[in-house]
Amino acid sequence: MFVSKDHSSIYFPPNGFNHIKVLQGQPQKGNTTHERDDNIIAPNEKGYINVPLSISNEKDKLLDGLLVSGFDEASCISRLQSHLYRKASPHKPSRYLISKLRNYEELHRRCGPNTIAYNKSMTNIENSKNNNVDGCKYIVWSPTNGLGNRIISMAATFLYAILTDRVLLVRFGKDISGLFCEPFLNSTWMLPNNSPFWKQEHIETYDSFLEKGRSKTNKTKEDLPSALFLYHQYTKEDTEKFFHCDYTQDLLRDIPLLILQTDQYFVPSLSMITSFNFEINKMFPQKDTVFYHLGHYLFHPSNQAWGLISRFYQTYLAKADERIGLQIRVFDPQITSQQEIMDLILSCTIENKILPKLETQNSVSYSENHTLKAVLVASLYPDYGESLRAMYLNKASVNGELIGVFQPSHEQQQKFHDNMHDMKAWTEMYLLSLSDVLVTSSFSTFGYVAQGLGGLKPWLLVRPHMRKPNSTSCEQDLSSEPCFHFGPKHECNGKPQNHFASSFPHFLECKDINRGLKLVSDSALL
Ligand code: GDP
Repeated sequence: MFVSKDHSSIYFPPNGFNHIKVLQGQPQKGNTTHERDDNIIAPNEKGYINVPLSISNEKDKLLDGLLVSGFDEASCISRLQSHLYRKASPHKPSRYLISKLRNYEELHRRCGPNTIAYNKSMTNIENSKNNNVDGCKYIVWSPTNGLGNRIISMAATFLYAILTDRVLLVRFGKDISGLFCEPFLNSTWMLPNNSPFWKQEHIETYDSFLEKGRSKTNKTKEDLPSALFLYHQYTKEDTEKFFHCDYTQDLLRDIPLLILQTDQYFVPSLSMITSFNFEINKMFPQKDTVFYHLGHYLFHPSNQAWGLISRFYQTYLAKADERIGLQIRVFDPQITSQQEIMDLILSCTIENKILPKLETQNSVSYSENHTLKAVLVASLYPDYGESLRAMYLNKASVNGELIGVFQPSHEQQQKFHDNMHDMKAWTEMYLLSLSDVLVTSSFSTFGYVAQGLGGLKPWLLVRPHMRKPNSTSCEQDLSSEPCFHFGPKHECNGKPQNHFASSFPHFLECKDINRGLKLVSDSALL
């Protein structure tokens, strides 16, 4: 259960919601109206309708073909209801992406856990045999760091799996099991409990493999290990080590099982590989929609998470005219005061007209404008939400707008191996993604998940200690894609490369970290 900002418990009705604000059919500011047969069900005066979910449009439910039908609806309610919470998407999945996903699902069904092909392939891999008779290859994603890091790196690993015809398996510990639904029909993406690949100590590492590769020429398939461990946690050193190079991928192609431990969104690295680049461009003609589509395909909140999301949304956010997401991640609490952060938030939101100024007089506003803005605050600390709420309760806004401030949790610190902690984090990322306007903290992958799922270009708050005198408090991001924090340092010929962004037209340097790379659309390049 969440505890509300005023520290009273929020009651979650046992059956979740039974009426939903239909965003898609409503004429919204700057939003085109979506096709919907309004003759069937007319919204009431508040824009709510009782939607028998069985009649909500099949095309909408399946996100224009991104998702496949046939799942047991009750086991994952969010899969078919989430579209009711979002505005009509301007991003449609390409036919090519849809066909790649259907092919992937077929591969996963044939080679995934509990199949004959899986058992045979795994026995061979365990016995260090590299004969890939069934054509089943695997990539095992292994988690590291917080939930945002995990989600963005899983999305990148899934893209890699599609590009290399590998089956994606995930090592979910107790902390994150139960957050998501199974994404692949009639199969599982969980690495089976009895797999020896929950550990990697007995497996050759990528570093030693590269080292050997350098000393050998004419490598044959027999020289290759059957499993390899890649640790791409991307620190300041260049740990990626030529993963983005064609020749490395040529070598990795014939290794049946890779274990990838990573916390980064390495999609830009994949785009640097010639054959992958071609495929990625075909799958994602709109370059800045990779995470948006893959995220909507993979990450469906479990019923427990969806209960938290939908009830919070219905209780606090649905009735607002505008929803504003405010994500406050404080990376350096020792060197940054709360006041500095609060000043930054106010300066960003007020200067950019995201939130209104306050009346300077102690007067009551007689404005006719009773627009209600709901601000969803996500932060480990209660203070920011509390201050903001008190501010708008104590004084009127100059334009008469009413500002409601809601903070679902305040965990005080990042916790590990704690399932409910991660459940709250996932719920908040998802709720933030339902915002109309999003303000996030620089460098935070928590915010990247929200912006990526929402298809939103957030306002990025600068890190207070990096703010130069007279510089802005926030800047709008270039795209909704997550930033890949650590672009490769070397060209494939071994020469140092500091400006990858200049060599690839759809990469720009991230606004929040100058070594970072980000995919952007054609329009962002104009
Ligand atoms: P990043 O460190 O900001 O890139 O984001 P991560 O999600 O990878 O790691 C931060 C972790 O700290 C989260 O996964 C949560 O466990 C916790 N956390 C940070 N900020 C918040 C917040 O606003 N709400 C909640 N519920 N948890 C948070």
